[in-house]
Amino acid sequence: MDIKVEKFRKSLKEKGLDSAIVFKPENRRYLSKFSGSSGYVVITEDKNIFITDFRYVQQAFDECKGFEIIQHTNDKTIYDILNGLCINKLGFEDEFVTVSQYNEFIEKLNDIHFTPLKDTLNRLRAIKDEDEIDEIRKAAHIADKTFEYICSILKAGITEWEVALEIENFMKKKGAAGTAFKSIVASGKRASLPHGVASHKVIEEGDFVTLDFGCIYNGYCSDMTRTVVIGKATDRQKEIYNIVLEAQEAVLGFIKPGITGYDADKIARDIIKAKGYGDYFGHGLGHGVGLEVHELPKLSPLGKDTLQANMVVTDEPGIYLPDFGGVRIEDLIVVTENGCEVLSKSPKHLIEL
Ligand code: ZN
Ligand code: ZN
Repeated sequence: MDIKVEKFRKSLKEKGLDSAIVFKPENRRYLSKFSGSSGYVVITEDKNIFITDFRYVQQAFDECKGFEIIQHTNDKTIYDILNGLCINKLGFEDEFVTVSQYNEFIEKLNDIHFTPLKDTLNRLRAIKDEDEIDEIRKAAHIADKTFEYICSILKAGITEWEVALEIENFMKKKGAAGTAFKSIVASGKRASLPHGVASHKVIEEGDFVTLDFGCIYNGYCSDMTRTVVIGKATDRQKEIYNIVLEAQEAVLGFIKPGITGYDADKIARDIIKAKGYGDYFGHGLGHGVGLEVHELPKLSPLGKDTLQANMVVTDEPGIYLPDFGGVRIEDLIVVTENGCEVLSKSPKHLIEL
């Protein structure tokens, strides 16, 4: 029996639910391994059911081990199937289900209480098993290889857009299914935009270039950032870079099970504040990564979650100075029993290209 499904069934029971319907793609894949784009996982007290249409039945048989596969049709709708199960309280993904879907379920379900699952699945997904960590490790490796390649082509005269295309092409050539998010290539003054997606700006001599990118490998994401300088770095660039690096590395030495996302964020924030740049680190330290690039836990001033072994998170402090540029350094890490393992292996000294 699949351990993920068993844990989910247990948490349903704790919430007083006897069943759940799950169809957010990442949650559906988490529970069933189904990689297609349409289908419903239904978990009851004693059944694992995967319901899909004609297009995906064979794929469901191949991928969803331990699930009973049922095809829904115009004559046998998802509502007919649910109404035919002996269930009373059906959990649903309230963060995902649209208002119109919700209304349709309420209208068509007979005597079944449709009940919000809240963050049940997000909490389970935050702690990875060894197989999941392996997929993320491979995704991180592809990102490292990509950074190495980008350093070999990055020079004054090329546009941010061209760099982003190179990043995306290279990751796919290395086996990635796609990018985990729109690649960020922010150069010169644009490097002060924490989420400056690639534009048609030409990269110039003296620019800081922030590269934040990641890929999807077997459904799992990677996420890393490096900032490089085109040509020789100025003293000011070196100063800013080294503060961010010091903050980023201090966190690596501190992360272990039991500390909160708030504690981890504070380590980096205090260092940046002490150097006088506290107002220029305007985002949280990091986030969980898995089937989605942003998931639990949150590492930020609002991060109440306690870190636990086998969580995969980012450590990504930054300083962003308007009209000057910015620096962010981001590693993907796994929380281990005693500390953490860094999955991003790319160098972190200031690279001058
Ligand atoms: Zn990132
Ligand atoms: Zn990130």
